[in-house]
Amino acid sequence: MIRTPLVAGNWKCYKTTPEARDLAVALGAALDAFATVDIVVCPPSPALAAVADALSGSRIRLGGQDCFWEDAGAYTGQVSARMLRAVGCEFVIIGHSERRGRFGTTDYPPAVLAHFGDTDPVVNRKLRAALQHDLLPILCVGETHAEREEGRTNSVVRRQLEAALEGVSADEARRLIVAYEPVWAIGTGESCDPEEANRLAGLTRMTFHEAYDPDSGITVRVLYGGSVTPENARGFFEYPEIDGALVGGASLDAARFGRIVEAAMARVE
Ligand code: PEP
Repeated sequence: MIRTPLVAGNWKCYKTTPEARDLAVALGAALDAFATVDIVVCPPSPALAAVADALSGSRIRLGGQDCFWEDAGAYTGQVSARMLRAVGCEFVIIGHSERRGRFGTTDYPPAVLAHFGDTDPVVNRKLRAALQHDLLPILCVGETHAEREEGRTNSVVRRQLEAALEGVSADEARRLIVAYEPVWAIGTGESCDPEEANRLAGLTRMTFHEAYDPDSGITVRVLYGGSVTPENARGFFEYPEIDGALVGGASLDAARFGRIVEAAMARVE
């Protein structure tokens, strides 16, 4: 096994600072034994410092949910990659589907309200800023339901990857983690068929291979995300191209997240 499995929890816009601290303490106590899996939690920004504090001495690592590309300036509401690094983050989610999309378009299902206009070039700028500040980006890619229905899954995923990698060197690309997250599977309870997720993970590796070299296609860690639960996680981790999971809803509960990490550990045993 050349790639260390990774399970990351995206807490989205859940948990006040005291709630986040409590969850971090519970996770620290429950998950320290899982030494063969990289575990990351991505709390909301106001809770980062408290969670960093609660996790100090534990092997759970900290990530941001998004970052701005400028280091500082008159950008109300933004959190820069530099700030994330300074508060103790080692990872950052980039290009999550809840941040991609454009207001006023039908690119995404109308029920999904959280669109912040992150286009492919915006994702690329954020990714490069993250790399510049020594953060490990967890780059999210994935098609909408409509794009899948139209037979455009492969081309959408390839386009998102190629656009994100623009101007990223082979050395930098080795630090990336990609999460294949079909938009229709996120927060819906309708997960992707593991075999299909494995196929898209393979396509991701092929894109890295073509953009750089065969080695980068082999070493890049590819996660699956979209309604992963303790019940279905093992089904994904049995597939060779899938190195772990990006988990939303099920990461908000220490016991459920712990069972997903446990399933990932079985992958290396
Ligand atoms: C996510 O937030 O990236 C995600 C996959 O959410 P969920 O697990 O709730 O579908």
